[in-house]
Amino acid sequence: MDHCYREVLACGNQLAMDEELPCCPEAEAALRALMRGNAQYLEHSRNPAELTDQLRLSTAHEGQRPYAVVVCCADSRVPPEHIFSAGIGDLFVIRNAGNVMTPSALASVEYAAVHLHVPLILVMGHRGCGAVMAALQKHREPGALGALIAQVSLGIGHVSNPRQAERNNLFHSLDALGESEVLRDLADRGRLAFAGAIYDVRSGAVELLRNDE
Ligand SMILES: [Zn+2]
Repeated sequence: MDHCYREVLACGNQLAMDEELPCCPEAEAALRALMRGNAQYLEHSRNPAELTDQLRLSTAHEGQRPYAVVVCCADSRVPPEHIFSAGIGDLFVIRNAGNVMTPSALASVEYAAVHLHVPLILVMGHRGCGAVMAALQKHREPGALGALIAQVSLGIGHVSNPRQAERNNLFHSLDALGESEVLRDLADRGRLAFAGAIYDVRSGAVELLRNDE
């Protein structure tokens, strides 16, 4: 799985060079579709995706076939369907504050990978994430929020730089995906790959990250 993980992360830098990714062609195509969608979003500042009655009816009858899973923050400034110019049935989206790989988030990813055969899991953090800042500033939160922020704290480690903390939190969630036997098995058979990205809430741009940066 590690191989696919690195290959697809590397793919982010290969997109402009139009090179092919030998490891997981379906995941590569999905990643390219996401990045094309983001380029459209940046160009037009609107979502040109199909949201018609006809598509709603056909997906209701035939079921869903999303091409990517996006795990991202619940922050209202991070709307994945708009960011990637995606329509009904395109993305299987899992969100919570800080894009933490909670048991329910992981279970949802497994569902999409096993039952919907989605080839790509993109975990996307974002600039100015409140959950990451709360963890950095060691806020003590009551209730379930405290437990979630504790998970983010675990992910960011001992860094103090917000950008590094966002990256660490993102890779912590990606690493948690790799601990799922179900997902590892699919990745080992070349049917699933993983990628990480950071979304800039100012510019609207999605930056794919490499594991070796
Ligand atoms: Zn956030």
